[in-house]
Amino acid sequence: MARSPITPDEAAEQETLGARIREFRERRGLQKQELATALGVDPSAITHIEAGRRSVNTSRLNTIAKILGVSVLALLDDDSPLGELAVAARTGSPSDLNADDEPMVERVRALAELSHVLDEGGVRALAAPAAPAVSIRRWQQDSTALASWTLGQLSRRYLNEEPGVLDDIEDVLGVDVLCVPFAHGPLGMSAHLGNIRIIVLNSCQDRRISRFTLSHELGHVLGQAHSPLCVTKGFVNTDPHERFANAFAAQLLAPDDNVRARFPDQDAITPDNLIRAWLDYGMNWKALVYRLHNAGVTNAAGRNELLKRSVSGWATACTDKRLCDLVQRENRGPSGAHRAPRLLTQRCAQGYLQGVLSIRPYAGLTRIDEYEATEELDAVSAVDC
Ligand SMILES: [Zn+2]
Repeated sequence: MARSPITPDEAAEQETLGARIREFRERRGLQKQELATALGVDPSAITHIEAGRRSVNTSRLNTIAKILGVSVLALLDDDSPLGELAVAARTGSPSDLNADDEPMVERVRALAELSHVLDEGGVRALAAPAAPAVSIRRWQQDSTALASWTLGQLSRRYLNEEPGVLDDIEDVLGVDVLCVPFAHGPLGMSAHLGNIRIIVLNSCQDRRISRFTLSHELGHVLGQAHSPLCVTKGFVNTDPHERFANAFAAQLLAPDDNVRARFPDQDAITPDNLIRAWLDYGMNWKALVYRLHNAGVTNAAGRNELLKRSVSGWATACTDKRLCDLVQRENRGPSGAHRAPRLLTQRCAQGYLQGVLSIRPYAGLTRIDEYEATEELDAVSAVDC
């Protein structure tokens, strides 16, 4: 049977899709030949597809999306912001993304896509308060200003690791936080693009490192970093954007006024005070010492002197022996926790009840089976009626 000719609308769609495929292929730095080989077709087929002269079936579209590292939605939806995320991965360390990073990148992309689909379906993201604009060139002043704005928004609850800090970041700042263990993945990642604001933390990391990572990613998201997708493998200070995020994190965990009150002068640098600060700020030792240096509490020579001993070393020198016990009891191991991003989870529930989404995303985020999830949400909607 002869194929019926396609309608003008279908032809236009095919052309748009072809152009998107070409755009993502080029941004990915792939030659036509390479895409053709990966797909198992002749390069001329790619030319036809990209020119909109040839249709693409669903299974081939899935394969193309996979090869280009984008979602199918990003290819089909001309306005989708997801394409930006697909190619924008940027790492804090000099090395590029490798295979170990991919699962976390995939997770972030999936969450971003979910947020976008919900938004399109009318289940909008929480309107976040407008953070002060920052200039990366003035990283020192602007990271201080942004950190103090953030602490103000959170009513300073960031100090002392209040258990509700992640909930606050979501409810007050409109940034979703997902914690998930990745044995070999990066420390964390963040995405920010329009209404999409997501932080993913690797819970296989030391808690103090995780806390700093959370703060660092928050700096990227609130500071509207250069790149919509940031990946943290370590804390490097050679890149200005990374320097900004690191300074922001340090100020959030150990605010200026608090540091100055604890250490008004050199004489205040005693083992007891140092250990109290370490316990309260929840930073690792090196980050704390650098913070004291940046806050002007100690000079470079003093900083190097402080780094000669470890936390345990300083703890044994404390006159208050309870501090020594506290250091020993401090749990520095990874939590290994799973934590669903609450804002997105609530929106998925709402999306399901409004017929925008299937039950699957809600079940996936809450890690309960689809049948139970359906029962749970249907019960909620019955009560609402
Ligand atoms: Zn970073």
